[in-house]
Amino acid sequence: MPSAYEYTKEELAGLLEGEPRYRVDQVWHGLWNEAQSIDTITTIPKALRARLSATFPPSLVVANDVQSDHGATRKWVFRLADGATIETVLMGYDDRVTVCVSSQAGCAMGCTFCATGQAGFTRQLTTGEVLEQVMFAARAAAPRRLSNVVFMGMGEPLANYKVTVDAVRRLHEYRGLSARHLTVSTVGVAPAIERLAQEGLALTLAVSLHAANNTTRDELVPLNRRYPLERLHEACVNWVATTSRRLSFEWALIDGVNDTDRALLELAEYADSLRAHVNLIPLNPTPGYLVRGSSPERVRAFRDGLEAEGINVTVRNTRGRSIDAACGQLASVTNAKRRSIPVRST
Ligand code: SAH
Ligand code: SF4
Repeated sequence: MPSAYEYTKEELAGLLEGEPRYRVDQVWHGLWNEAQSIDTITTIPKALRARLSATFPPSLVVANDVQSDHGATRKWVFRLADGATIETVLMGYDDRVTVCVSSQAGCAMGCTFCATGQAGFTRQLTTGEVLEQVMFAARAAAPRRLSNVVFMGMGEPLANYKVTVDAVRRLHEYRGLSARHLTVSTVGVAPAIERLAQEGLALTLAVSLHAANNTTRDELVPLNRRYPLERLHEACVNWVATTSRRLSFEWALIDGVNDTDRALLELAEYADSLRAHVNLIPLNPTPGYLVRGSSPERVRAFRDGLEAEGINVTVRNTRGRSIDAACGQLASVTNAKRRSIPVRST
């Protein structure tokens, strides 16, 4: 059953044929301005609400809800209609409230250090399933206003291209979120970056680089064999030239793998040629990858080294480690597979 967020206003009006136009406005306002689910839009009559709730049941059912950082970080595992599971993380900061959404159930890219990659691919999400994650988080964040959306949960957003672009566009146009507060993180699907540059969206693009030589990157990010650093560089040049937007690179610091002085200089050169910002993320441990994250001292030294090379750099604090809600720990698919013993009700 489709989500109510799957539709444009005109499509929704078509589905509400026979109802006065102001009803369409009320439903639309409830969904988009107030982030309500159909069954709580009390401005419409009960009978209509019941009919619409049956037509558009919520796509997400909470399977787990955990908090950390004294309530500032909250992670949900959602079960979708077909039993697939995804994760969504809400993070409150002093100056903003950010939700991290999944774009796919699982991921086919197989990055070695990533829990989602280790678990494999289940299926694409629909636009409605992506948007419902945002709206669910917006309700949970109230009275604070959800301000930022990052596509850094499970999955590779640019491998679910149309859904990602549709979701971004609607969050901007219907929900009124500033496009620059919408961040798409990609492992580096070069042609899709070039296509995205043509969409006319002033969103923020983060590229998960992790290594700036092909030998190391081939190992960490298998997609590098298809789109090596030179090809990725072309796409990044194209992004910056077309959108005039700054790029950021994500770099999960891994002990002895990409935190060496040589790695630092390679990264500095690559980032400098694109005037990109670098986000350093201490690696989160995952069961399928036994190399450790860099020590806090090495993380600081790496940051200082990049700064000395003139690179704009931030160390991202990893929220939600204790509840497996940090980047790369989103792997509910594995857990779901392990637990999926069919139970037949009689
Ligand atoms: N597929 C997209 C977006 C989802 S992953 C991408 O790869 O960019 C979101 C971020 O988490 C990426 O930067 C990814 O490299 C990072 N990440 C994955 N596993 C991690 C781990 N174990 N520790 C730290 N960051 C990790
Ligand atoms: Fe997929 Fe991103 Fe994880 Fe790589 S890092 S496996 S692209 S989710």
